[in-house]
This record gives sequence, C-alpha cells and structure tokens, in this order.
Amino acid sequence: FSTAAALDEPIKPPVSVEHTQLLINGQFVDAVSGKTFPTLDPRTGEVIAHVAEGDAEDINIAVAAARKAFDEGPWPRMTAYERQRIILRFADLVEKHNDEIAALETWDNGKPYEQSAKIEIPMFVRLMRYYAGWADKIHGMTVPADGPLHVQTLHEPIGVAGQIIPWNFPLLMYAWKVGPALACGNSIVLKTAEQTPLSALYVSKLLHEAGVPSGVMNVVSGFGPTAGAALCSHMGVDKLAFTGSTETGKVILELAAKSNLKPVTLELGGKSPFIVCEDADVDQAAELAHFALFFNQGQCCCAGSRTYVHEKVYDEFVEKASALAMKRSVGDPFKEGMQQGPQIDQDQFNKILGYIKSGVESGANLETGGDRLGGKGYYIKPTVFSGVQDNMAIAKEEIFGPVQSILKYKDLDEVIRRANNTRFGLAAGVFTQNIDTANTLMRALRVGTVWINCFDTFDAAIPFGGYKMSGNGREKGEYSLKNYLQVKAVVTPLKNP
Ligand code: ADP
Repeated sequence: FSTAAALDEPIKPPVSVEHTQLLINGQFVDAVSGKTFPTLDPRTGEVIAHVAEGDAEDINIAVAAARKAFDEGPWPRMTAYERQRIILRFADLVEKHNDEIAALETWDNGKPYEQSAKIEIPMFVRLMRYYAGWADKIHGMTVPADGPLHVQTLHEPIGVAGQIIPWNFPLLMYAWKVGPALACGNSIVLKTAEQTPLSALYVSKLLHEAGVPSGVMNVVSGFGPTAGAALCSHMGVDKLAFTGSTETGKVILELAAKSNLKPVTLELGGKSPFIVCEDADVDQAAELAHFALFFNQGQCCCAGSRTYVHEKVYDEFVEKASALAMKRSVGDPFKEGMQQGPQIDQDQFNKILGYIKSGVESGANLETGGDRLGGKGYYIKPTVFSGVQDNMAIAKEEIFGPVQSILKYKDLDEVIRRANNTRFGLAAGVFTQNIDTANTLMRALRVGTVWINCFDTFDAAIPFGGYKMSGNGREKGEYSLKNYLQVKAVVTPLKNP
C-alpha cells in the first residue's frame, strides 16, 4: 500500500466548529433536556465537538415552528421568483464558503478533503441552483372534462416536510431533500445523522442569511430512535423523506402509517451489480469497477458491490483490480492526493471487518487487503475478493466499505438472472462496447439507475431511486418535485360554454 501517510499525527483541519446547537425557528438553541452528544473525528475516534441532542420535545417545537411558517408565514405565499432568488443567494453563499464547509464535512465524515472541496460542495451549489430554477416553473394544468366545466389543477406545496438523512454524504443528502422542498414552497424539519451533524448547521445558517424566513428550515441533531422516530410519528408533519438502511426504512414507514399516514419517500440500501462483458477493455473496466466500489470509502448505497466478470476476461480482470486496490492511497483525508480516508465510526469499522472475516471463512479468495490500516482511527485496507459465490454473505448483504467482491459468469442470460436475484434494486453498472449487449442489459436489469460505461454520474437533473427494497420515489430531477407537491383539482361550471 502506498499509504499510511501521516496516520499517527492527524493534520489540523483548516476550520473551527462554530455551530453545535439546534437550529429552530431561525435561532440556535440548546436541546430542552440540555443534553449533548459527542461527534467524533473518524481519523482518531476523538471528540470534535459536543452537539445539542434533540429529542421528542425539540421535534415538537421545531414542527410547531415549521407549521406556523407554513400555515401563516410568508414562504408558501411569496412569489416563486422571490423564493428562487433566496435559494440562488444561498447557493452563492455556500460557494463563497466552499473550503470551510468542505473542511467541516471532511473532519466530521472522514472523506478526502479534495473530494469534499472539488466535487461535493460544488455539486451542492449546482443542486441548489437547479432547484432554484424550478421554483418559478411549477404550475398545474387545465383539464378537458365532460360537461360544460372549467377544470384546472393547482400544484400546491405539501406542507411541513420531515427529512431524515444519513452520514455518508451529509451535504449532498441535504441538497437532494431540502432543494426540492424549498423550491416547492414547503417548510422543513431536518434530522441529521448522529455521526455527522456539523455541516448541515453551518449551511442552514447561510440559508437564513440568504433570506429564508424563520421557521422554514429547522435542523434537529440527535439520534434515530428518539428524535428521528418522534419526527416520523408527528401528527403535524405532512410528508417524510428518508435515506438510510432498508431496516430503518421499514420502521419509518410503520411510524408514518401508525400516526397520520403521511406519504413517505425512501432511498434505501443496495447491492448493485457491475457487469463486465466479454468485449471489455480490461484496463478501463477494472478502473471503473474500482471507482464504482471504492469511491467514498465504499460507503455508497449504490456502490458496485457485486462485480460480475465474464470468464473470458476474468483472470486478467482480477489481477488488474487487485493491483489498483494495492495502489490506492489511503491516509489522512486532509493530506493531498489521498483517495481514501477512514470509515465513519467504530460500528461500521467492526461490521466491515466482520464481513471480510466471513468472506475468508466462506472460501472466497482474499487477493489483497483484509485488515485495518494503522492502529488508530477507522482506516481499512482496500480489499479484493475473487471467486465469490452468489450465496456468500459478502455477495448478498450491504457491506458499506472498501471490499470488492468479484464473481465469474459465462453468458448474458445467466448474469441477468444472477444480477436480479436480490431484494435490492438501486443501480447497476454495465461495461461493454456492444450496443446490443448494452440494450439487453439496460432493459433486463430491475434497478432505478443503469450506468453504461460510467458510474456514479449524479447530475442534478438525473432522477435517482430504487426498485424493490431499495426504496420508493425518486430524488433529483423533475421527478423529485412530485414528492413535495399536492395536486388540487378545481372544478367550475361554465355558464357560457
Ligand atoms: P446507518 O446504519 O447507515 O446509520 P440508518 O438507517 O440507521 O443507517 O440511519 C440513517 C438515518 O436514520 C440517521 O439519521 C438515523 O439517525 C436515522 N434513524 C435510525 N433509526 C431511526 C428510527 N427508528 N426512526 C427514525 N430515524 C432513524
């Protein structure tokens, strides 16, 4: 490994933590209980800051503020153009503070600083500008009806949106949810992930500086079974959007059903196939498959975590994939040139090492990696298994770490059957130059996104979401607006048809 760079002496992050309280009704406030919880630096496991710990009482206050802002406030009644200008100003402010926000994201999450600063924060800005663009383009229809009737539909904001996000892309998940909700004129109570509460507080302050009225954007840090569950069960919340594990998704749907039947969009787990066809350029295929799995420390719901390789190119592919994993630079995410930082926390770290052990025990070939890196923090060596069989846990369950599983196949029908034989259906990668093969796979795979000769392409306008137990609903793109709008039909008899 070309690694272990500065693992012992963590680099001092070029930012300080300014906001640790809850953001409710335009004010930073302590939790009602006065409780806090520590957010940890994944490089060391040491405390970055103590953050206010919201619970049911804080959720009640935040929902009341959001309710008032929606029912009485100016936001849903403002002109669409005014809302658009506030969202655009917000994007400008985030862009201006790009490097500080990126540093905060990397400190709290462990992802490479260059990834935060050059990809994720700019993408956040792009997403906000995209949604600002929609704000004044949302409108209903006139509908031809039988009888002398004038019929129209109004597309109205749905109300108070409860949003629960995970820790792997704290700010991008914020943008995917907050962007469309704001553009449509809703108010929001956002529950961030307990591992990564910091960046959402920072940018939400900027959103207020940009002119969003108090009560429209509320951020409650805290834990899932307390603050998160209270938000899901709240009778004053009109809609829920969740990204996280499939298990938690089931709980959330149940809480929504048991309270007020609020509609729920879910973006859940995956076990995405990446299919390398027999005509593949093996160098390019290995590089793309490597990126598809290892990007963001392997902590992507859509990670290409089942690498199916045609038997004709299999041996060469395994050799190249292993060489790439060995070359991957792992170390302090603040150090220039690092491709991989630590995993998010001790739980994930243990879970990933457990899967690696299970891979070895079930008879897969460990080509490289397989262990932690260094003695401190949550670093794991890029790991490659070949000879993986479909029934092994590493081929069936979401590992959410830097562990590539390579499986061999013989023909297209077989790989389609095997790729679809999973409870998940989030995404798939296809690597081929043959248009017929690409067309066959694209139509046969039961997934929400097929990337052909590319992977993890996440433009603002491209819808993203899952088939099967990977969730329901779509985020990003025009499709995402539907999640935050009600349709009202208005019927008037016509005196003079
Ligand atoms: P992970 O295992 O990756 O942490 P989770 O699905 O548990 O994924 O977490 C994603 C988000 O869901 C986090 O913000 C977490 O706090 C929240 N969460 C976890 N459990 C619950 C729950 N019972 N009710 C509501 N939210 C929850």
